[in-house]
Amino acid sequence: MNILVGGSAGFIGSHLVDRLLECGHKVTGLDNLITGQKENLFGLDARGDFRFVDHDICLPLPQFAESFDVVINLACPASPIDYQNIPLETLWVSAMGTKNLLELARKDGARFLHASTSEVYGDPLIHPQTEEYWGNVNPIGPRSCYDEGKRFAESLIVNYKKVHGVESRVFRIFNTYGPRMRKNDGRVIPNFITQALSGEPITIYGDGKQTRSFCYVDDMVDGIMAVMNAPVFSGPMNLGNPKETTILELAELIVMMTDSGSEIAFKNLPQDDPRIRQPNINKARSEIGFEPKVSLKDGLARTVTFFVG
Ligand code: UDP
Repeated sequence: MNILVGGSAGFIGSHLVDRLLECGHKVTGLDNLITGQKENLFGLDARGDFRFVDHDICLPLPQFAESFDVVINLACPASPIDYQNIPLETLWVSAMGTKNLLELARKDGARFLHASTSEVYGDPLIHPQTEEYWGNVNPIGPRSCYDEGKRFAESLIVNYKKVHGVESRVFRIFNTYGPRMRKNDGRVIPNFITQALSGEPITIYGDGKQTRSFCYVDDMVDGIMAVMNAPVFSGPMNLGNPKETTILELAELIVMMTDSGSEIAFKNLPQDDPRIRQPNINKARSEIGFEPKVSLKDGLARTVTFFVG
């Protein structure tokens, strides 16, 4: 198939591009490199089945000679530090960027896939989070540019289907990690690994009892591929690894695995930081046969190897 990927130079986007090419698809990748990195696509420019276009999807899209079978939107800053530094860009890419890619899908009659997020559930009041939960989001808080941007995008997609009949598939990504995360992207796993490897204090925000459920990037790509290929698809779908861990346990595991002498330094918990998060993936299991395979320890080992290299 001929596939367009928005956000192709990002952490998850670039891994997805690799997989799409491995599966024999032809890929056009768009990215404005605001948080993505061209080196994530290293070597792909030489291939005849891949083309990179340095472009902000908030602007009118280039005119493509051919039409696309699938349009996949992964374009958005995803680290809290990043999106709080560039909140307006984050809102616009979820709004205008999503609209522009939806319009392309509409023109080409393409299937539209969209990366939403566990952040649509905010600081959740039900646990684990099911797709039916409407969430607990502060609409004017520091995370709102991301959370509300993604919620707006979901509404836009639902209404593009209703008004224009665009066939769309929304998946909600829970915390995902692995090689190609930027060392300075501010998320917990790059921070802890970088700190552990350099012997600097491990910065735990709050008391470290807050939880997250970490999914290795290869498992996430399996899920996105299954979403794309499923014969039928209904509503938004959680994708993530339901194995939940506290941030303190994560810090201890990384210190142990890297044989680090780093101490733990407790810092203030950022405003509106979700206290708990775990995906209920029953829907993904039953509808697309999704099952994460990589344990936290194995995934961290592969990520540490990347950061060391
Ligand atoms: N966190 C931390 N130390 C860090 C970075 C993050 O304790 O150096 C915490 C953060 O407060 C949150 C969790 O780790 O509770 C996950 O943060 P991250 O930024 O990776 O992603 P989030 O799930 O909040 O979007």
